[in-house]
Amino acid sequence: MLIETDILVIGAGPAGSTAAKHAALGGAKVLMLDKKSEIGAPKRCAEGVSIGGLESLGIEPNPRWVTKKLDGVRMVSPNGTDVWLTSDKVELPEAGYILERKVFDKFMAMDAARAGAEIRVKTLATGLRREDDHVIVSAECMDEEFEIKAKIIIAADGPETRVARWAGLRTALKAKDMESCAQFEMAGVEMENNDVIEFYFGSVAPGGYAWIFPKGDDIANVGLGVLTTNTDKTAYQHLLEFVENCPATKNAQPVELNIGADPVGGMPKKMVADNVMVVGDAASQVNPLTGGGIISGMTGGMLAGKVAAEAIKEGDASEKRLSEYEKVCRAEIGDSINKYLKVKDYMMTLSDEELDSIADVFKDTDFERVSTGEIVKTLIKVSPKALLKLGKIF
Ligand SMILES: Cc1cc2nc3c(=O)[nH]c(=O)nc-3n(C[C@H](O)[C@H](O)[C@H](O)COP(=O)(O)OP(=O)(O)OC[C@H]3O[C@@H](n4cnc5c(N)ncnc54)[C@H](O)[C@@H]3O)c2cc1C
Repeated sequence: MLIETDILVIGAGPAGSTAAKHAALGGAKVLMLDKKSEIGAPKRCAEGVSIGGLESLGIEPNPRWVTKKLDGVRMVSPNGTDVWLTSDKVELPEAGYILERKVFDKFMAMDAARAGAEIRVKTLATGLRREDDHVIVSAECMDEEFEIKAKIIIAADGPETRVARWAGLRTALKAKDMESCAQFEMAGVEMENNDVIEFYFGSVAPGGYAWIFPKGDDIANVGLGVLTTNTDKTAYQHLLEFVENCPATKNAQPVELNIGADPVGGMPKKMVADNVMVVGDAASQVNPLTGGGIISGMTGGMLAGKVAAEAIKEGDASEKRLSEYEKVCRAEIGDSINKYLKVKDYMMTLSDEELDSIADVFKDTDFERVSTGEIVKTLIKVSPKALLKLGKIF
């Protein structure tokens, strides 16, 4: 069997669904497939997003997928010193939500369907080849094998992307650019304030950080990301230790375990080739400092979908035509990814003791009354290398 379409989106995560939606809104014939039988499940995510990020994508919050509105952040250093950034202390630059990803992802796919995209679930893409001015993707669903002929494919197949590599793009990542994550969703979590997300820094999660993201009542996503280059233990082993030692989780029980990778090395040099575009985690469209990739991946998906639909109208799916996506994407999200890469580099140089002394000087700071300049000056006083690493950013 051969199916024909203008645009084939492989992967129905947030980036793929957003690409499919905007490509369909642009008038193209769109097919999106996902190997999962239930889009969005199981999640591999702590489910935090900024409200402004959703707004910028034109997405109205829906109580069916928002589990919690957040009121700030608590940052905890290795010796337990904490810095609170809550709305009673500081005007928060970004308010956030905790989602229910398995509902959110489905809703985003439904939006794509309503825009006109066709969706096939439990359908695995297994390979691709180029023929003249199009691409043939082989796929299978419920033991049936078939082929899809597309003028453009959008690879949205997540952090372990194979589609981009099949198309000859170099998206394979070095170990230092891929965080290994483990997370429990837990009940019985006792947080000091369950309207606030918590970050734990230092050797608790080498190369990354640990987090507790509340989902309402006593439920929370409790997880961490590590760089395997910085530890001999697995992320799961670190998670078990964290859960046992953290006062908030030592009496909690897991109801779900999520293991996954987070590409934190910044976007690759090339995200397009003839007939091919790469979006979302497959193109490392992730904030390297926080590991957050929902909004940035959806932004990449939106930009790719729009350019793809235009390219179809013009009958030109060449790399040159599709590179407009790369250009707008770097302008829209590339600069902030590069900035956060520098902040992350700096964070990675800090020992537990240095993190403790930084937390100590900031723990009683009235952030409302001090300027960014003053914060940076204080930081440089306690951690002089901040000047070298962050000087050009602020
Ligand atoms: C533990 C953890 C916590 C995180 N927490 C947050 C957070 O709090 N906030 C945040 O913003 N980000 C977070 N992230 C990152 C976030 O989950 C990702 O950036 C986001 O899911 C990327 O979306 P995507 O659509 O690119 O890829 P994905 O959501 O990974 O979707 C890819 C889809 O492609 C499908 N697929 C793959 N291969 C094929 C194939 N061959 N054929 C068909 N289908 C295929 C998969 O089934 C999947 O549905 C976290 C990541 C991890 C690992």
